Amino acid sequence: SIQAQGVTKRFGPFVALDDVSLDVRPGGLTALLGPSGGGKSTLLRVIGGLETPDSGEVRIDGRDMTRVPAHERGVGFVFQHYAAFEHLSVFRNVAFGLEIRKRPKDEIRRKVGELLELVHLEAFADRRPAQLSGGQRQRMALARALAAEPSVLLLDEPFGALDTKVRRELRAWLRRLHDEVQVTTVVVTHDQEEALEVADEVVVVNHGRVEQVGPPDELYDKPANDFVMEFLGPVT
Ligand code: ATP
Ligand code: MG
Repeated sequence: SIQAQGVTKRFGPFVALDDVSLDVRPGGLTALLGPSGGGKSTLLRVIGGLETPDSGEVRIDGRDMTRVPAHERGVGFVFQHYAAFEHLSVFRNVAFGLEIRKRPKDEIRRKVGELLELVHLEAFADRRPAQLSGGQRQRMALARALAAEPSVLLLDEPFGALDTKVRRELRAWLRRLHDEVQVTTVVVTHDQEEALEVADEVVVVNHGRVEQVGPPDELYDKPANDFVMEFLGPVT
């Protein structure tokens, strides 16, 4: 689970997050939805330990993360533009986290094989990242994040750079993947359709504040205010 309580983050005089709380149940898939500049990425980075909040606390699986550095939090990150090791094969990119933890070779081979199957890239194990499509690259990024067996997965606009058709496919795929691996996940998006379709709970973030939290149906049927109503808009 993820519990953020009263998180405030300033950049100089600018308040990027203003007393934000968030609760993601174990195995849940929550979307942070809102307009550009609203504070979605900042919140994700605070949860992941890439930014320190000025006040408030973050708990992951009940553990206070306040003084735990990012690499010890058990978080897997995937960003819009994913930095792969271009000189390594897809297999080695996914294996990387296991190799630095000195896992036995046969375990690595088996685990990476399973992960590549999970993201439907088993036929691409020997390719270089440059020989993948954008969607395949993001699937590799997810496999690589999952290889570290994170307790939470944090995705910041993972499909943001892809065209609409591929986005649609990957959206449905992410939902199925999550049903299978059941890892607590937060996905940032400014696309309301994506949030409503993928997540079991949506947090609407605007001007550094939470406007509304709820399951997709509830947000759509009972928007808490004009902002939420307009932002969700008619789904096209
Ligand atoms: P987008 O959809 O465009 O990615 P976002 O909701 O992810 O937007 P954030 O990146 O969290 O928004 O930014 C929230 C606000 O905080 C913005 O006004 C941004 O300019 C500001 N901000 C973010 N990071 C910094 C920083 N390191 N220094 C100063 N201001 C920052
Ligand atoms: Mg962002």
